[in-house]
Amino acid sequence: MSLSATLTDLVPTDGWQQDAACREADPELFFANGDAEREAAMALCGACPVRTECLEHALSTRESYGIWGGTDEHDRKRLIRRRRRNAA
Ligand code: SF4
Repeated sequence: MSLSATLTDLVPTDGWQQDAACREADPELFFANGDAEREAAMALCGACPVRTECLEHALSTRESYGIWGGTDEHDRKRLIRRRRRNAA
């Protein structure tokens, strides 16, 4: 990935992604291990108008890595387990 890539280089841009707060952000923020990067990514997600759509995309595609919709992979696993429990 080039250093000038943005998150929307990684996902289709013909839907909710057009309104993503991270449209011009460095995608490495969303896949880094450092606390500073994580906080910066979470701050963008917190102000993002398509957070719900992004999270549902990540849940439906079982995104295993990175921050999507203001959640990390552990948050998403918990959400999926909770939804399964509630559906049972
Ligand atoms: S919720 Fe976060 S990762 Fe998803 S589009 Fe918005 S800023 Fe990007």
